[in-house]
Amino acid sequence: METEENQQARLRMVSQQLEYRGIVDRGVLEAMGSIPRHRFVDPGLVSQAYHDTPLPIGHSQTISQPYIVALMTQLLQLQPDNTVLEIGTGSGYQAAVLSALAAQIYSVERIPELADSARKVLAEIGADNVQVILGDGSIGLEKYAPYDTIIVTAAAPGVPEPLKSQLAEGGRLVIPAGGRGTQYLERWTREGDRFHLERMVPVAFVPLLGEFGWPSA
Ligand code: SAM
Repeated sequence: METEENQQARLRMVSQQLEYRGIVDRGVLEAMGSIPRHRFVDPGLVSQAYHDTPLPIGHSQTISQPYIVALMTQLLQLQPDNTVLEIGTGSGYQAAVLSALAAQIYSVERIPELADSARKVLAEIGADNVQVILGDGSIGLEKYAPYDTIIVTAAAPGVPEPLKSQLAEGGRLVIPAGGRGTQYLERWTREGDRFHLERMVPVAFVPLLGEFGWPSA
C-alpha cells in the first residue's frame, strides 16, 4: 500500500542518495521517484525499502541498492522506443524502472519463484511492457534479438558472447564483470563488429550462474 511515509522516504532516496551522488538523468530520477520500491521487498522489510542498501529477496538473492539501480539505468542512455533485455529479474524492481523509460522490456530469471513473484508485482503496478521469462539468461534471449540495450544484474566472469551478438548496432550493454566476489561495472557499446569498453565503479553482485556465467555447483 502507498503511504505518505513511503512517498516521503522515496523522495528522500532520490535527493539524498541519487542526486547527491551525481545521478543527473531526469527520466531515471522521475522513474525512481514514482515506482513503489516497497512493493518489491518482503513485507517484513518495507520500512527499509528506501534505505541506501541492497536487501534480501529470498533464495540467497538481493534487490540492488537504489543508487546502483539508478547508475546502471543512467548508463543505458535509454530512448523511449528502445527494446531492453534484462538478465536477472530478481524482485522485478529494476525491470519496473526500465519499463517507465523504454518501450519493451524482456527480463530473464533462473529461479521460478522469483520470476513468478516479479510477474505478479509488475502486473499489479501496471508495468504492462515487461515480459518475465524463466531461463538461463547467460545465453541471452535469441527470440526477440537484437536489443537496443542489455543490462545484466548479476556478476559475470566476462561479457557472455551470446549477449554481444544480441546487441543492436550502436547498442549499450551494462554488466558487473570480474571476480565472483567483486567486479567493475562495465558499459560496452557496439560499433559494427567492434565493442567499446568503459569501466566504471567497483561493485559486488551475486553471481550470474549458467552456461556463460559461473558454474552453479
Ligand atoms: N534486478 C534485480 C532486482 O531489481 O531485484 C536484482 C537482481 S539480483 C542482484 C540477481 C538475479 O540474477 C537473481 O535473481 C538471480 O537468480 C539472477 N540470476 C543469476 N544467474 C542468472 C541467469 N543465468 N539467468 C537469469 N537470472 C540469473
